[in-house]
Amino acid sequence: MKEEQKIFLIILDGLGDRPIDSFTGQTPLEAARTPVLNLLAEKGTLGLIDVEGVGVRPGSDTSYLSLLGYDPKEYYFGRGPFEALGAGINMNPGDVAFRVNFATLDKKGKVADRRAGRIEKCNELAKALEKIKSEVKFSIKATREHRGALVFKGKGISPNITTNDSKNTGVKPLEIKPTDETPEAKNTASIANDFLSQANKLLDKHPENKKRQKNKLQPANYLLLRGAGSYHPLPSIKERYGLTSATIAGDSLYKGIAIATGMDVVEVRGATGAGDTNLLAKTLTAKNTLLTHDFVVLHIKGTDDFGHDGDAMGKKAFIERVDAALTELANIDNTIIALTGDHSTPCALKNHSGDAVPLLINGRGVRVDSIQKFGERDAAKGGMGRIRGLDLMPELLNLAGRAKMYGT
Ligand code: ZN
Ligand code: ZN
Repeated sequence: MKEEQKIFLIILDGLGDRPIDSFTGQTPLEAARTPVLNLLAEKGTLGLIDVEGVGVRPGSDTSYLSLLGYDPKEYYFGRGPFEALGAGINMNPGDVAFRVNFATLDKKGKVADRRAGRIEKCNELAKALEKIKSEVKFSIKATREHRGALVFKGKGISPNITTNDSKNTGVKPLEIKPTDETPEAKNTASIANDFLSQANKLLDKHPENKKRQKNKLQPANYLLLRGAGSYHPLPSIKERYGLTSATIAGDSLYKGIAIATGMDVVEVRGATGAGDTNLLAKTLTAKNTLLTHDFVVLHIKGTDDFGHDGDAMGKKAFIERVDAALTELANIDNTIIALTGDHSTPCALKNHSGDAVPLLINGRGVRVDSIQKFGERDAAKGGMGRIRGLDLMPELLNLAGRAKMYGT
């Protein structure tokens, strides 16, 4: 049998897009100058992925699980637990986790800003909340900018409660309510409402917020809780595929999914999970990590952010920066390289869409097709055809010479 190859999966979040008038009908990826991706495409094969099925608009959490071969119908238990793991909070089965926005409540108790004036970090504010007196043990941590995670720990709690985030400003936050009749859900709703009112009082008088107000900045004096979920361990990548694995990502969601699936998380200085991330450092780290691991996932978030901002020029320029940082891949050998998106985030929609995402696969043994460059319409003509998200890992294992025989 031929030697097994390593697998390097690069995910550009929200990569797929739609035609842009100012790019004469090209997408940001098609309009971008991408000599490295084009070379990989020329010597590889392209295709399209319907990550969650044709026309389904995926969230980043469910789509990422699917690309790793974990069917979200079986393994998705809400975004909160993944965010919490990625924030560095230890979780036990049954703990209930939320993703948190530090937000601004005005004097009338209405939400003035859902992101607290795009505050840069909330670490000190999160620390101050450790003083909250709650009937459950809890852990709260800030991640990047206004974001963070909160976990209620122990027994007698439930994720079956509503959010306090109406996603609107100028209105009071919603009261959290149970979504079923269980005492656990009622209990958790009341614990959460009490936690939020204590948090508001503590944050309001925090010196950092006093300083922000003095400088005419929005204070981060309130928490919006979303994505409630109860944590259950997932079978690991090692158990499922027999691969040692690692993830390189700036954003806490992807670190959390890595931890939940038993992958090593390799930290990179300057990996911010945003458009200003240190792409070259991430690529070089990924390349080094391939020396010690069978399967490495490199997640890059910036493409999605530019899509959400409707900034086609920014998305195109960011893809060009990614391409330049991938120059290092030209001389990787014994590795199946796959590059794709977790979903499309068309600039015209400023949100995720159900459009299929382009896929590029390169490496020894790949049936090279006739396509010479990487873009959505090129991908539609590629040799891989059109697959679903859950098909990606089996295909990569097959190409890497690591698929188990079905039958004898
Ligand atoms: Zn995404
Ligand atoms: Zn997104």
